[in-house]
Amino acid sequence: MIRYACDLCGRELDPHEDLRYVVRMEVYAAFDPVAADEEDPDDRDHLEEIQEILERMRDIDDPQIGDDVYQQMRFDLCPECRKRFATNPLGREVAKVLDFSEN
Ligand SMILES: [Zn+2]
Repeated sequence: MIRYACDLCGRELDPHEDLRYVVRMEVYAAFDPVAADEEDPDDRDHLEEIQEILERMRDIDDPQIGDDVYQQMRFDLCPECRKRFATNPLGREVAKVLDFSEN
């Protein structure tokens, strides 16, 4: 049987007692759509091309694609960590709390 551990606190999850939460994250380089009043049509085509490539990349599970362009992450969380993550997905308040305690 596969055993899971929480990726945040490291606690091992009992498959019979603990709910396990899966967090999937996608991080990819954003190519903003060109504003309608911008002129260069060549530039626009180029951006659309890049966007098409990105769309295709999402379907292909290719490890060769650089993490700085496209990154997909998956984490297992225990119920407590899931709650913490949901209220603060980017860890912003945690940094603030740490600043306070150091004073
Ligand atoms: Zn946890």
